[in-house]
Amino acid sequence: MKSDPKSAGLSPVDALHLRDAIRASRAAVAAGAMPFGAVLVTADGRTLTARNAPAVPGDRTGHAETNAVRDALAAFGAEALRGATVYASGEPCPMCSGTMYWAGVARVVFAGSGAAMAAQGIDTIAPGCAQMLAPLGIRVDGPWLEPDAAAVYADWAAGAR
Ligand SMILES: [Zn+2]
Repeated sequence: MKSDPKSAGLSPVDALHLRDAIRASRAAVAAGAMPFGAVLVTADGRTLTARNAPAVPGDRTGHAETNAVRDALAAFGAEALRGATVYASGEPCPMCSGTMYWAGVARVVFAGSGAAMAAQGIDTIAPGCAQMLAPLGIRVDGPWLEPDAAAVYADWAAGAR
């Protein structure tokens, strides 16, 4: 594995979950969806993986992180989400950032930055996740493992062109 100086603070557990989120982003591409995956880990260690849903005309809200929160609410209940960490293959958008905030997520770790997405023609919306969530007391780490995530964006772009 190439060393990535930006990933210097990445712990082995963070790396494991973030790689699972990137793996889910590949599954999203295979399913005809935008290239994003997410892993939600509750404070007591339960995990749930989600990915972007294939586009439905008129509905572009099926993002991996929002799907992870909804699926985790159904699977674990609302209390379990307090203090959870979400690992996202891409920097979460304002909709997903708000969803995670309302659910009580305490930390967000992301792989690809908005700039890496934009480089592959993926729409992004400001503000970035850290800018939005850090003032609300949510810790945001990333971009980490960005080359791995960006490779999936490139594969998606190659198929979308
Ligand atoms: Zn989103």
